[in-house]
Amino acid sequence: MPIEHLLREERSRKSAIWRGMRGQCPQCGNKTLFRQYLKISDQCSGCRLALSGHQADDAPPYFTIFIVGHVIVPVALIVERLYTPPLYVHAALFCILAVIVSLISLPIVKGGVVGLQWALRMHGFSPEDETPENEARKTVSEGIHE
Ligand SMILES: [Zn+2]
Repeated sequence: MPIEHLLREERSRKSAIWRGMRGQCPQCGNKTLFRQYLKISDQCSGCRLALSGHQADDAPPYFTIFIVGHVIVPVALIVERLYTPPLYVHAALFCILAVIVSLISLPIVKGGVVGLQWALRMHGFSPEDETPENEARKTVSEGIHE
């Protein structure tokens, strides 16, 4: 199969996001996306896809805050309407709940963002990113982050 065909091959966004959300490599589906809680692996051990070039940056925390806010606030309002607990109960209960829901959803959202970036050939998943200049830049920036 010619390489140009592989570079232009359509990638399923839905499948890539779903695999990423489950901590799987967006390309092959092996459970190799994360090497730690929120650390993306440098490379998939199954298909050798380079994962280190992803640039999820602030998107996962942003989406997580958005999701958690839309879950916690309605629940807090419902609890207030039904039980009218004292304010300290609200503060304690929903602070803890917000932290727990955030910690659970953050890797799910980050995996989905990385999967979408792969499907859209963004950032480190773009064939244009594999030029010698970009590889050198990537190596330098990885050295800064380590
Ligand atoms: Zn893979």
